[in-house]
Amino acid sequence: MAAEVHGGRAKCLQRLIRLDMPVPTTVALSFDAVRRIAHGWTPDMEALLAPFGEDPLLSVRPSSLDPDWGGPGAVLNIGMNGVRHKTLAAQIGDAAATALYLRFIQSYAVNVARLDAEPFRHAEGDLDAMLAAYEEETDEPFPQDPAQQLSEVLRFMARAWDGTTARILREAKGAPADAGLGLVVQAMALGVGAPESGAGVIQFADEATGAPQIKGRYKSQSQGRDALKGNGAIYLTKDARGPSLEELCPAIYADLVRFGTLARQKLREEMQIEFTIENDALFVLDAVRVPRSSRAAVRIAVALAEDKIIPREEAILRIPPATLNDLLHRQVAPGADRDVFARGIAASPGAASGRLVFSSSEAQASAARGEPSVLVRRETTPEDIRGMHAASAVVTARGGITSHAAVIGRGLGLPCIVGVSALAIDPKSRTVTASGQVLAEGDLVTVDGHTGELLVGQPEMVEPALGEAFQTLLDWADAVRDIGVRANADTPADAETARIFNAEGIGLCRTEHMFFEGERLTVMREMIFAESPADRAAALDRLLPMQRADFADLFKIMRGLPVCIRLFDPPLHEFLPTDKAGLRELAEALDRPLSDVTHRAREMSEYNPMLGLRGVRLGITVPEIYDMQARAIFEAAADVARHGDPVIPEIMIPLVSARREVELVRGRMDAVAAAVRAEKRAEIPYKLGVMVETPRAALRAGDIAESTTFLSFGTNDLTQMTYGLSRDDAGRFMSDYVQKGVYREDPFHTLDLEGVGELLAMGAERGRAMRPDIVLSVCGEHGGSQAAIAFCRAYGFDYVSCSPFRVPGARLSAARLAISERMGFAEPPLKPGKVLIYQ
Ligand code: PEP
Ligand code: MG
Repeated sequence: MAAEVHGGRAKCLQRLIRLDMPVPTTVALSFDAVRRIAHGWTPDMEALLAPFGEDPLLSVRPSSLDPDWGGPGAVLNIGMNGVRHKTLAAQIGDAAATALYLRFIQSYAVNVARLDAEPFRHAEGDLDAMLAAYEEETDEPFPQDPAQQLSEVLRFMARAWDGTTARILREAKGAPADAGLGLVVQAMALGVGAPESGAGVIQFADEATGAPQIKGRYKSQSQGRDALKGNGAIYLTKDARGPSLEELCPAIYADLVRFGTLARQKLREEMQIEFTIENDALFVLDAVRVPRSSRAAVRIAVALAEDKIIPREEAILRIPPATLNDLLHRQVAPGADRDVFARGIAASPGAASGRLVFSSSEAQASAARGEPSVLVRRETTPEDIRGMHAASAVVTARGGITSHAAVIGRGLGLPCIVGVSALAIDPKSRTVTASGQVLAEGDLVTVDGHTGELLVGQPEMVEPALGEAFQTLLDWADAVRDIGVRANADTPADAETARIFNAEGIGLCRTEHMFFEGERLTVMREMIFAESPADRAAALDRLLPMQRADFADLFKIMRGLPVCIRLFDPPLHEFLPTDKAGLRELAEALDRPLSDVTHRAREMSEYNPMLGLRGVRLGITVPEIYDMQARAIFEAAADVARHGDPVIPEIMIPLVSARREVELVRGRMDAVAAAVRAEKRAEIPYKLGVMVETPRAALRAGDIAESTTFLSFGTNDLTQMTYGLSRDDAGRFMSDYVQKGVYREDPFHTLDLEGVGELLAMGAERGRAMRPDIVLSVCGEHGGSQAAIAFCRAYGFDYVSCSPFRVPGARLSAARLAISERMGFAEPPLKPGKVLIYQ
């Protein structure tokens, strides 16, 4: 019997039987049989009932491939009728027999005959009234033929699986469109009657923490999972608070514990066992995987491997990387009430509550008062960085997965939702409207960056918990993975996080983020407004020590690990205020007339800033900025190396499209290095690399590689430019595009392996052909995803770099890919030059 044919429950029961557990007679119906039943076919009832002997009482349970996919609830006591009621009354007493009959009629009427529940609730406890209610509702007496009852139950369950809601729910959990349902027909162990009879559930690990612990309940004179619902259940193990099964039936308890250990050993999983005691005899009716939180999943998998029940590799394969998200961030408690105000793109995971604010300055003011805030903006710009730092979460009406808010949110580990197109923000009245509902500044809201929902109020939360098992699992992952994982880190705080998560270095430090801190912004603006080279040099001289301190901090924190610093990238005008009040403030700070400042700001604005004067183009036209940055890097490296670990900084040039750009920058970098070498009397080793972010850089990678030691693919810009799709505007129509199947996924979220991937493959191949030892990496937002890592492994990249909070997931993904490949689950890497498509 295979789970793919009969479902997981049937397969599991077969294994329990093989382990000599007392499982009642069981017949499994395959996915195919159930599919045919749903379409009107009736199985040979005589043959189906034959194994159960005379007058059986039966249960039917669903058996899909994955229990998480749901399915119709179990139906118990099939076979109850007038005759059986009498014989049973003689055996177990009239009250118990009547209770079973009543239970069956009620469940059959409501679930199988699809009748309104109300009349049957009224008839509770009264058999004649219950039978009358059935006849009244259907104009037919309650069916007495067990074969007819069973056949109706099977049909009901088969059709329930085909229902729209059931399908949507399971597909949301990853079930394929054609997922099948098997059914398990089993002889009932009654759980009622004397001597001791009853039912219970036992498991051996805590579902929230995964800690080993016997948990469950037992209830005398009950069936199924009654013990977990109502009153009257007792503990399983001896407990000061009340009676226990261990005291009531010590031998049965001992058997259960033995079965639990056996099931864990042989089924290689923590199982929850449903059992029934009938006339002092134990029956095992069913066993399912203990349902578990993400935290418990990690602890259980690690414990199974430590007990040598499963290999470490399997423990790694059992934890999907997304599971780690729940461990790294606060979450809205599962089952908590959610008052959804609006939905958008889940851009950075975790959940946080706070008072609504509409400006960065309000977010900062809230933080100063010690009040958490949620910053809601149409979109964020680099100017908002301090507000974002101060807020607990960020929501933007516009933007996609690589928009400013999304990138910064992930970097800061800040829950973030972008592209909430239903939001109408009115900055004047300080309100936000969505679907007719209005919220005002100061209202309490919660951002769920996991689901992309903005919630009204503050639902219950669960705290992140890493724990020892998490560390152990990642240590095992590191031992098997064969591609490096670095972090994108711009600040000392990011670098600390990167270290905590064992990143192997910094793969991308976006230096422009450093210029938005405190008084630097003013100096930066002075530099932008400088009228003469001397004025500009003066402003840069003031920025130099600040940058030097930034880099020294990063080098110290990373203790000898590689740090890859990207030279200044954004268009300069991003540093200028956008509104009147800001311009006025700036004019005052610079002591210049407002008209001057406004004029200059207008002069610098561009029609297409993303394709304008930014990246290396700034480095070529205003080279003093890169000179200052290079000096800051070299001086910091020399200072830190003198007192600690050796530092070999990596300097990366953004937005390159021509080899000559690299040569010009290299010339200046070498000159600055030589100057610092002479001043400091120290070696100034460094590596110069190029960010491949334009299609032309990928096409000309061979040429460009000649004067660089590494190529790092910036897949955010590369996606933007390959599609000709603005990463800041695409959020507005992306859902339409995905819904209509134009794009399979948002390419800013899921690396487009067919298009952008081909450029990556080509760039890697051409770069390596020119320089076989060239170091290749991806540092765009895609870098942390399993699909991108698979691609990078296939093409022999050296490392991926992603937001610090995605580093653990990337380490796990990389290990899973290496293991799958070794075990033959994954496609082998392709020969260079061919594009592998992971569907
Ligand atoms: C990129 O373009 O992929 C990249 C990493 O740079 P940024 O996101 O800063 O443009
Ligand atoms: Mg870029």
